[in-house]
Amino acid sequence: MKKKINTRLVGIAILAVVATVISITIVYYSFFEGQIRSDLEISAKLLKDTHYFESVNVDTDTIDLSTDIDELRVTWIGADGTVLYDNDARPEELTNHANRPEIQEAFEKGSGESVRRSDTMNMNTFYYAILLDNGTVLRVATEAENIQSVFLTALPIILAIILVILVVCVILSHMLTRQLIAPIENMAQNIEDIGTNPPYRELVPFANMIRQQHADILSAAKARQDFTANVSHELKTPLTAISGYAELIQNHMVDEAQHDHFITEIRKNAERLLSLINDIIRLSELDRNEEEQFFDVVDLYDVVGECMEGLGIAADKRNITLSFEGEHCSIRANREMIRELTDNLVQNAIRYNNEGGHVWVKVRGGVSPTLTVRDDGIGIPEHEQERIFQRFYRVDKSRSRETGGTGLGLAIVKHIVEIHDAKIEVHSTVGEGTEMKVTY
Ligand code: ADP
Repeated sequence: MKKKINTRLVGIAILAVVATVISITIVYYSFFEGQIRSDLEISAKLLKDTHYFESVNVDTDTIDLSTDIDELRVTWIGADGTVLYDNDARPEELTNHANRPEIQEAFEKGSGESVRRSDTMNMNTFYYAILLDNGTVLRVATEAENIQSVFLTALPIILAIILVILVVCVILSHMLTRQLIAPIENMAQNIEDIGTNPPYRELVPFANMIRQQHADILSAAKARQDFTANVSHELKTPLTAISGYAELIQNHMVDEAQHDHFITEIRKNAERLLSLINDIIRLSELDRNEEEQFFDVVDLYDVVGECMEGLGIAADKRNITLSFEGEHCSIRANREMIRELTDNLVQNAIRYNNEGGHVWVKVRGGVSPTLTVRDDGIGIPEHEQERIFQRFYRVDKSRSRETGGTGLGLAIVKHIVEIHDAKIEVHSTVGEGTEMKVTY
């Protein structure tokens, strides 16, 4: 960045110098040219006013202007264009001048001028011709450097100025960039410190974004750490139990009567391990492939209905009455996920219910179709209602474990709800029951 600013500043300076030099040269040259023309005009008029060339029978041999006015070439042209006198050459050697633009103009309008490139490199010849009263034309001419030559003459000076400016610019831009960048570097070093305000107003959104991302990364890392710790703990409990029971059996410390009980415990814990691992795998799948889910138009009523068929046995086991009603309605969804969501909600409604309790499942259509799972079970205390969607959060730990809960069901539900851009609401009263409502 520093290098970029430096080179750009130097570039701008060079550009400014070159542009200034070019425009000054052009302006200066046009003044210079104007001055030459006016000098020539004055000289021509002065010579005319002497009426010297109009005196009859002027003996051209006696005219000698060459010595006095060396810079000025004077040519006298007759009415037919023949050169009568030239202070720089013998008139006989010169061709007819009638077709020269300044001469033609002088014959027509009384005076004429023109500029021609000289034989000498980089020089221009300026001509001014004036018609004399006797019909002849007097022309004065002088040579001057052309604009390229003026520019080339000035080039070494220009280059020297550019060099000086370049050095000054490099020093200045170094100082300037250091001054500009120092606060940014300082901010970068203290990005976490909210007390350090961004040095420039333009950097506020950038700093806020970086800070937000930083906070998100930290909280994601913390969540991952917590999750790993929780997973390890959750896996350890059933594994320790399995290992302990197996050891007791191996050491013949379990009598015949308790044998079956121990084997059942081993199996229960193994099943718990399996459901835990299944839920963990499912969560990490949902974490990974959010964009790759296959969405289809599905009938919510049909999908929930299919799911309910499989839940009858679980409800019967706890003597719970399941009821399902509603209307057909279409939503854009992943069929498998909707089954999973329904299964989790209804399983919970059965699990956290009382013997002989009820579970009511309803599907409503309309602009935003809804799925409601209501039970008259134990309920969830108000202050815990938000936390139940966190991974491994359980209100009633022992009941959850006893009934095969993993503490991950509602975390999976929340994920599915988010993937479908849906919304989930909890209404619950301890001792009266719970209602979970998903709106698509
Ligand atoms: P679990 O596998 O333990 O059921 P969930 O993530 O599905 O885990 O639910 C988290 C916790 O929320 C449960 O442990 C339970 O305490 C509470 N919960 C969920 N659904 C209900 C419900 N219908 N009635 C009462 N408590 C519930």
